[in-house]
Amino acid sequence: MIAVDTRPNNKHYLNTASANNLVLMGPAGSGKGTQAKLLSEKYTIPHISAGVIFREIRKEDTDLGRKVRELIDRGNLVPDNITNEIILRRINEPDCEKGFILDGYPRNTSQAEFLENHKTIKKCILIEVSDKECVRRISARRICSECRADYNIIYLKPKQEGVCDVCGGKLIMRDDDKPEAIMKRLRIYHEITEPLIGFYEKKGILLRINGEQPIQKVFEDIVRGLESGRPIL
Ligand SMILES: [Zn+2]
Repeated sequence: MIAVDTRPNNKHYLNTASANNLVLMGPAGSGKGTQAKLLSEKYTIPHISAGVIFREIRKEDTDLGRKVRELIDRGNLVPDNITNEIILRRINEPDCEKGFILDGYPRNTSQAEFLENHKTIKKCILIEVSDKECVRRISARRICSECRADYNIIYLKPKQEGVCDVCGGKLIMRDDDKPEAIMKRLRIYHEITEPLIGFYEKKGILLRINGEQPIQKVFEDIVRGLESGRPIL
């Protein structure tokens, strides 16, 4: 007879042995943000985006805020020691007790080692989507030049081609979404992630997910991958 897990949503199963500390990786256009949101809802753990945290901190009127603002405005990267402390401060907050989903951090093996020294990472989820498919998805994005509403000529078409449903404004492509800009972002992504993939693979906690499937199927694959593993004691 097959044992049936009657516990609601399996939430407790995942939370008993250790916290659900997850790292999420995937290129722009992989649907990473959508999956992070779904995971956050299913396991009631926060989605922690490094990009969002930095945007908030640079607005702060504190020494740290000023320092980060200065670095970013000059086009410099925030050094590892500052980045590490900022992320650590966030994941030590009470809402992360049951776990967290890190997105946009770690960005190099030195950061990954720092994280490893402070938290047990359960899985690194890698959403794999080919460069070609990323370009196809991102170059389908459009934005209203007037009210900034988002559209997508594959998934979220306006009623009339090139015209905003909301305000009648002209739909345009953001410079960031043009093929050359996407290719540049993808090159940087590959440079950054390749060593990290090796890092998590060696630790035996890399979960490779085929991102070229419908959103719900990608999510199911992630959940299955997370729940099939032996609980970390
Ligand atoms: Zn508009």
